[in-house]
Amino acid sequence: MKNSMLLMSLMLPVVAFADGFERFSSDGKVDVSISVLDCGRIEARKPSMFNPNVSDEQPMQSANSCYLIQHPKGTLLWDTGLNDGLNAMPEGIEVMGGAFHFSLPTTLNQQLQAMKLTPSDIDYLVLSHLHADHTGNANQFSSAKWLIQKNEHHVAFDPEISAKLGFDLTQYQNLKDSVHVIEGDHQVFGDGSVVIISAPGHTPGHQALYVDLPHYGPIVLSGDLYHSHLNREQKAIPVFNQPEQTKASFARVEKLLTEKGAEIWIGHDIDEFKQRKLAPYRYQ
Ligand SMILES: [Zn+2]
Repeated sequence: MKNSMLLMSLMLPVVAFADGFERFSSDGKVDVSISVLDCGRIEARKPSMFNPNVSDEQPMQSANSCYLIQHPKGTLLWDTGLNDGLNAMPEGIEVMGGAFHFSLPTTLNQQLQAMKLTPSDIDYLVLSHLHADHTGNANQFSSAKWLIQKNEHHVAFDPEISAKLGFDLTQYQNLKDSVHVIEGDHQVFGDGSVVIISAPGHTPGHQALYVDLPHYGPIVLSGDLYHSHLNREQKAIPVFNQPEQTKASFARVEKLLTEKGAEIWIGHDIDEFKQRKLAPYRYQ
């Protein structure tokens, strides 16, 4: 009897923490920072694609944020935005038969230069997923280690499947030799301060990023788990998502936010973006 009770008490914590979040415990003292990069503007002419509750009368204006994470053990770039070449076209471009309008007021390279960095200084490239608004400059980062989920990598280089998923394979084709496949959550620096969170549904290997800032506190970069704070409140699921996977990812990330007391940063939310201090400012 005693032995079985002991066994149960040993087993309970495993059940209680089935998500594995307890492993992400940095002591809150790692000198890690995040800088917010302006990686473009997107006008979606059919917002109901992202939230079935909204009308299509008004287009949805979105930011397109990238983030630079600086850690004592290396530098990580989260997403690469729209292609820098778009900056030469101030009027922007129509995309997918006018379903979207893309524009790029400043380039990723200019913003890295302002931080005295070039693409070869980036140690880790992590893309929330492979949609074209996140991979525009990916080819420039072939010297970095590209951390990608197994399920995203599985479809990334198949011309037909990747195109069907809305990926533009030409934007990351230089990275074939940089691939480092991960499966599930992944601690980038081994100290719990920067953790990739598996959150599939928007794409097969979509992911978010947990960062424990020593002064500001813990945050989660949403990727495209949510496209706006309104969509988060309404638990809106884009029409092209896998609904069941998406719901499970919503639940999983919300649980992480609650357990860690973390803030969520939604990279496409234009109102949030307008309030952010941009690079070279470092949130610490
Ligand atoms: Zn996106």
